Formats: sequence, structure tokens, C-alpha cells
Amino acid sequence: MSNDILSIDGIDISLGETIKIELPIIKLYTDTNMSMPIYIRRGKRPGPTLFVSAAIHGDELNGIEIISRLINSKYMDKIRGTLIAVPVVNGYGVLSQSRYLPDRRDLNRSFPGSKRGSLAGRVADRFLTEVVSKADYGIDLHTGSLHRSNLPQIRGNLDDQDILGMAKAFGVPVILNSNSRDGSLRECANDVGAKVILYEAGEALRFDELSIRAGVKGIIGVMRHLGMLSKSRRKKSLPEPRIARSSSWIRATDSGFTTHLKALGDLVENNELLAQIKDPYGEVLDEVVCKKGGIIIGKQNIPLVQEGDAMYHIAHFSSPDEVAEYVESMQDELMENDQAFPLD
Ligand SMILES: [Zn+2]
Repeated sequence: MSNDILSIDGIDISLGETIKIELPIIKLYTDTNMSMPIYIRRGKRPGPTLFVSAAIHGDELNGIEIISRLINSKYMDKIRGTLIAVPVVNGYGVLSQSRYLPDRRDLNRSFPGSKRGSLAGRVADRFLTEVVSKADYGIDLHTGSLHRSNLPQIRGNLDDQDILGMAKAFGVPVILNSNSRDGSLRECANDVGAKVILYEAGEALRFDELSIRAGVKGIIGVMRHLGMLSKSRRKKSLPEPRIARSSSWIRATDSGFTTHLKALGDLVENNELLAQIKDPYGEVLDEVVCKKGGIIIGKQNIPLVQEGDAMYHIAHFSSPDEVAEYVESMQDELMENDQAFPLD
């Protein structure tokens, strides 16, 4: 797919060109047209084609800001090959501040979709046909769901060496192996020839600065790894990311109001106290305890829980203390100044 001809929705884009396309998708019932905004930047020099997508879940907004900073950065003048950036895949969900599509389906469970399928299936098919199948590689940007936040992490099928290479190049502390067959973009992208990793960071309906900075830096790292940008001259300051051996959820043992004692990125040990669940009078109903030690990579933020709610997502590593150190150094490195990121 490298090179001379790239055509999206019947529009030919040559090497050296930068354009924005409004890809028509199913209109709203108010007879209002709907489109998927696509930014295409082709370097003068040939190279791989990478797509970056955000807001497949309409309430996951961090990725929109990540793409905005990326395409307005100085790096765009230097790229080899082609970047296809889609800041809002599910515009319907963004409008209604919802994860889902108007037919209440989850777009990321509706791939590959089809031209004659459900609304979700038709949008999935359009995105897969006009964007994903035109690319060699992809990075799909997500956040935690409503009232939950994730520590910056990469997920992908790590049995694939290309994907493993991209995951490491992204340079966040935690990598999770994930190769389920679930109708997700990541799974179907592989069938149309694009290797895709998923970036998970932050919380739905919020901009989280650390997650945004780690995301921009991560995409630039992957572009360097793929030869789309030249290698950084700066010495690598961070260690190699760690692949989790497994992960598990800690669920609420009772219903009530929660006081969280631990934060994202914390190293927790077996039997360590994570939170208390209290009744409205402040009486402790139960204590939430870590069953298997690791790093907290996902966490509920709302202080209301019902029995069975997933409260903490814990990733298990062979050397969790090194991961905890990495988390700290990432925070120091990315948040050391309050100027706009990426820096020139
Ligand atoms: Zn998502």
C-alpha cells in the first residue's frame, strides 16, 4: 500500500499532499448530513501508511485532543509515507456524549460490518473500507468507560511481532496481550492487512493531560519505529515497557459509598486494603482487599458502588516494582512543565 496512489471515497491523494475529507455516513433523522472527518498527510517521500483513530466510542474524548496536537505539530513536515488521522469515528456518540451509536450498538463490537447491515455495521464497514484497509498500520485511541480511568497502556495481539514492536515503541509502562475475537476494529483490521494497537488512557468525557501527552509522544515513537520519522537524537530516558502476565478485576463486595485508598499506577500487594465501602451514616460495611498483587491500571472514580461493580483493574508482572518506577518517571518526564505539548 506504500505509495503512489491513495484514494479515499473516490478522491485521489498524491505524495506531498495534505487534505481533509468529510466522509459521508448515515444522516441523522433530522435530515442533517453526517460525516466522518479524515485528515490525510502524505510526505513527499514514500513510506508506510498509518491510520490513527479516536472516538470509536463517542464519549472517549482524549484521542480527539491527541490527534489535534499531533496533526498541528512540527513533525508533520517531516513524515515519510502517509498519516491518515480520524479524530471522530463515531460522531453520533460524540453528539450524545455516549459510547454507543443511535441504534445502541457498540461500534467496536460491530466490525467488519456490511453495507446492508445495521447502522453500526454500515458505519463499521465504511470506516474499514475507506480508512483501515488503506493502511499498513493503525493506532486506535480509547479511554476508560464512564466514571473509570485507565493508566496509559497499550493492548494488542503480542504474538504478532510487528504489533509487539509497535507496542514497545509507543513507550508507556504497561502492555497487555489481547487477542480475543470480539468484533473489534483491532481484530478485523488484521484481516484487511493493517496491524493495529490500541491505546487506553484516562477517563470518558474528560481530557486528561498525562494521557494526552503520553498518547502524542507514543504515536511519534511508533512513527519513528516504522521509519515515518527519523530516530530521535535524544538518548532514551525511559526503560523498556513491561508486558503484563495477566490482569484481574477487584469487584465491590457490598453496595454503598466508597473511599478509595489507592490511585492509578500504585503498586499493591496481596491482602492490601484498597477501599472501604460505607453506608450513609459512615459505618464501614466492608473492606475491599487486593487478592493478587500488581499495578493498578484501571480504577473506578465515582464514589458510589453496587455489589459486583468492577472497582480496580490490576495487572500482574514478574517485577511490578520496576513498572511502578516507570510510571513515576513517565509522570515526571511528561508533566515537568506546563507548556503546550509536544514541545518544539
Ligand atoms: Zn473505548
